[in-house]
Amino acid sequence: VVSVKDVIKEFGPLRVLDGVGLEVERGQTVAIVGRSGSGKSTLLRCIAGLETVQGGSITVCGHPVGRPGSAARAQLRRDVGMVFQSYNLFPHLNVERNITLALTLVKKESKGEAKRRAAEVLAMVGLTDKIASYPEQLSGGQQQRVAIARSLALQPQVMLFDEVTSALDPELTAEVLGVMENLAHQGMTMISVTHEMGFARRVADVVVFMHQGKVWETGPTAEVFANPRTAEFKQFVG
Ligand code: ATP
Ligand code: MG
Repeated sequence: VVSVKDVIKEFGPLRVLDGVGLEVERGQTVAIVGRSGSGKSTLLRCIAGLETVQGGSITVCGHPVGRPGSAARAQLRRDVGMVFQSYNLFPHLNVERNITLALTLVKKESKGEAKRRAAEVLAMVGLTDKIASYPEQLSGGQQQRVAIARSLALQPQVMLFDEVTSALDPELTAEVLGVMENLAHQGMTMISVTHEMGFARRVADVVVFMHQGKVWETGPTAEVFANPRTAEFKQFVG
């Protein structure tokens, strides 16, 4: 579903991704781990088409990630959902409207269809009872689950998660990770940057350890954790 080949990304003189490759198959859950500054977020942003790369190629669902404004980019927005650490809900809209907005405005769905979808995705994240609440009335974990639901409502082929729990207390972290684990079991293709090693070990099919802009280690999760090949990864998992 996602194919990243030899990607180079530079910010001015700084090379942040230095020949990164990654293949993700349909239904796989991939965990990207690594130290701060190793290029994890940048890689996700490149896959989501939010950055222009200086070298290599990325395809999502067989479509090349094109330049901003291109037809390929419009397709990419339909194929890829992305959730960040900050959930960015619209504070003046209730939960249902936060979810239906893009469906009615961008996807031109009928109000009835959009509401039906909102109910469906809220059930998936366990927040059916919060449909009429406003973001400020929800906990951080609940807001993050609404953000995930909003992304799911657009029916992406692949979901990208960037440290979605790092702003949350442990208890709220657990409920968000639970939602992601359910999604994985339901066959969603997901790439998740995470500091939660427990989640990575338990849920990810494949783990990717990034270091200094490169994929330092990758493979089936159990194998990678059982046989770390580099001193950097050994030190990282401590
Ligand atoms: P963290 O775990 O702290 O989130 P990360 O692995 O996600 O780290 P990135 O955010 O991808 O790291 O950043 C990788 C490198 O690229 C860092 O050195 C960062 O300072 C640099 N960088 C990221 N975005 C930009 C930008 N827009 N302009 C300049 N440099 C950037
Ligand atoms: Mg990051």
